[in-house]
Order: sequence, then C-alpha cells, then structure tokens
Amino acid sequence: MVDVLIIGGGPAGMTAAIYAARAGLKTLLLESAFAGGQIVNTPIIENYPGLKQGVSGADLAMDMLEQVKRTGAEVKLETVKELKLLGDVKKAETSKGTYEAKTVILAMGAKPRLLGITGESEFAGAGVSYCATCDGALFRDKDVAVIGGGNTAVGDALYLARLCKKVYLVHRRERFRAQDALVKQAQKTANIEFVLAHVAKEITGEFAVQKVVLEAAGGGKKEIPVSGVFVAVGQVPKTDLIAGQVPLDKAGYIIAEADCQTSVEGVFAAGDIRTKRLRQVVTAASDGAVAATQAEEYLIGYPERGK
Ligand SMILES: Cc1cc2nc3c(=O)[nH]c(=O)nc-3n(C[C@H](O)[C@H](O)[C@H](O)COP(=O)(O)OP(=O)(O)OC[C@H]3O[C@@H](n4cnc5c(N)ncnc54)[C@H](O)[C@@H]3O)c2cc1C
Repeated sequence: MVDVLIIGGGPAGMTAAIYAARAGLKTLLLESAFAGGQIVNTPIIENYPGLKQGVSGADLAMDMLEQVKRTGAEVKLETVKELKLLGDVKKAETSKGTYEAKTVILAMGAKPRLLGITGESEFAGAGVSYCATCDGALFRDKDVAVIGGGNTAVGDALYLARLCKKVYLVHRRERFRAQDALVKQAQKTANIEFVLAHVAKEITGEFAVQKVVLEAAGGGKKEIPVSGVFVAVGQVPKTDLIAGQVPLDKAGYIIAEADCQTSVEGVFAAGDIRTKRLRQVVTAASDGAVAATQAEEYLIGYPERGK
C-alpha cells in the first residue's frame, strides 16, 4: 500500500511525485511510455522559467525524471489498465500486478486532436504545431495558417498576429463556434485573413512546411503558402480509465478546480487532464505541486476520519 499513487509521468505527475516524496509520503508513479509526456516530442521549450537558452522537451523530461528519482519516489514503466477509485483503498491494475494506494493523483494528460490529413504527421515539429503559445515565437515575421473555429483557434490567430507577418484563419464553416467578441477582434486585426468554408486537405513542403492545400465547401482547391500550420481543432483528454468513477465536464476533462480535488475522496487531478484555462508545462507542474499537497493534507487527516 502506497500513500500516493500517481498515474502519468508528464510534468504534472513528475512534479506531484517530487512534492509527495519530499513530504515523506510513500510515492509510486506509473507511466506507460516515456517519462515526460507530451514534452518528449517537443523540439524546444522556451517558455518554462529558468531556461536561459530553451531546452529540448526530451532533455527537460530526463532532468525531471532524475529529480523524481532523487527524492526517493518509485517510478515504474507500466500502463494502468484498470482503476478502482471509490472507497478508502484505491486499486490500479497493470499487466504486472495490482497496486493499492490511500490516494491517487490522476495525471494522464491529454493529446491534441489531429486533422488526419496528408503531411500532418510528417511535418509535426517542422512547421505543424498544436500549440501557438509554445511555438508561435518560432514563426516570427512569417506567414502561418491556423485551422479551427473555436475559441482556441481564434485566440491562437490573435496571438500569432502579434508575432507573424500574416495569419490565415481557416475554418470549415461560415460561422465560428468561438465567442463573438473574439471573432470581432480578429476581424479588426489587419494581418488576419479569414478563409471560411474551407477544409484543410494536405500539408506540403520540402523538409519543412511550405503550403497548406484547402478544399472549398462547394468544391475547388486553393493553396496557401505558409511556413507554419497551427492545428487548433481541440484536445482529447485521456480519461477512458476513469469513466463512470470521476465526473467529467462536457469536453471530457476531469472536473477539478485549482485545488485539484475531484469529487471522489482521496482522488486528485493534475495537469492537462483537468478543466483549466491554460494547458502548459508550467501549469501542469503547478497542479502537480498542489495535488500532492492536497493528498498530503488528506492523509494527515486520515486517522482522525476513523478510516
Ligand atoms: C506539440 C506540443 C508542443 C508543446 N510545447 C509546449 C511548450 O513549448 N511549452 C509548454 O509549456 N507546453 C507545451 N506543450 C504543452 C505541454 O506539453 C502540456 O501542457 C504538458 O505536457 C501537460 O503535462 P501533463 O503531465 O498534464 O500531461 P502529459 O504531458 O500529457 O503527460 C501524461 C502522461 O501520462 C501517461 N499516461 C497516460 N495514460 C496512462 C496510463 N493509463 N498509465 C500510465 N501512464 C499513462 C502518458 O504516457 C504521459 O506520459 C506542448 C504540447 C504539445 C502537444
């Protein structure tokens, strides 16, 4: 039986492990692939404090993992296949066995929804990006396209318009799902061009992105020369494991506020997996620290609760 079981070894889970183990709690972190989560494939991270030169996501992940291990937290590369979160003893099942815990921190993260078009995966990290906040600065004074019609897409277009020469905002419908105020702001921005009723069909280039090919709703193709394509068609939180056990919001994220508490006793959610405004390394790390501290407080109260 461990005090704190953390599922997911991204920035949220690893920070939670550091805080929990340093608080003297018996801590186990289970990670299915490589510690680091989404940052492992991020060529450069420039917006996490303390990085004078920026760092590759893989290097930052390795440093975080080393730090986790130094604290005495145990890390196992095992995929959690089943979770039982209700009751005082939580259980996680992997192909190697069952682990029991007094508290669980859910930090399984999320993944960007893909367009699923030719060239998208080929140019990921070479012009195709899923995060304007992360990569926008790499496209300073260049032309880019943003694909999507929600608040994230329009917000990304506005953000990129401050850095890039020109931003094409490509949406498959005539009307946006984004808030009216955001759309109006985008309409007033001189270097944003709306390309409505067009679907992105292909991303092409040599070594890096050079063009995005669009298809009009009524037929006919159009090519836009761009150096970057920002895909903003949503994210998919990794919550399959907890379906029916922990309440989720409409978009599928765990309902948990800044205190990272879910409505299930002893269960906390940290990082991209929970409802929040900004999904970044810095906010994931912050959640990890908060969730571990909340778990610690929950455990200190444990005997008094008569459990
Ligand atoms: C292309 C890209 C570039 C980005 N660039 C930046 C950037 O420059 N700066 C920035 O601040 N942010 C950036 N981000 C966002 C940042 O990566 C995320 O906000 C952050 O990684 C979220 O951390 P997390 O720990 O919540 O989740 P994740 O990083 O998603 O980690 C979750 C982990 O849980 C594991 N997991 C999932 N299910 C299970 C299971 N069943 N059992 C065991 N383990 C499981 C996964 O393998 C994964 O390692 C970028 C994101 C993307 C996609």
